[in-house]
Amino acid sequence: MSMSDDVKIIQCEEAIRKMLEYIDEELHQHDHASMEKHLESCRECYSRMEFEQRLKSMVKDSGSEPAPPGLNKRINKIIKDY
Ligand SMILES: [Zn+2]
Repeated sequence: MSMSDDVKIIQCEEAIRKMLEYIDEELHQHDHASMEKHLESCRECYSRMEFEQRLKSMVKDSGSEPAPPGLNKRINKIIKDY
């Protein structure tokens, strides 16, 4: 965590604006870090982010394409390997 010193402090407004990109992991590394820092300290944005994530996975589940079955396996593997 040596790079945490240059993490920019952002306000809720900016966090909300970048939330969807954050969830999709489309933010640049430093923006991603700023979001994480904000979410650590802001309960409101954190709940909002959880809500958006749930919504997103619901949309994915109800879509015509089934969720990739490999994903859970991959996550389990990561946890096991950890
Ligand atoms: Zn916030």
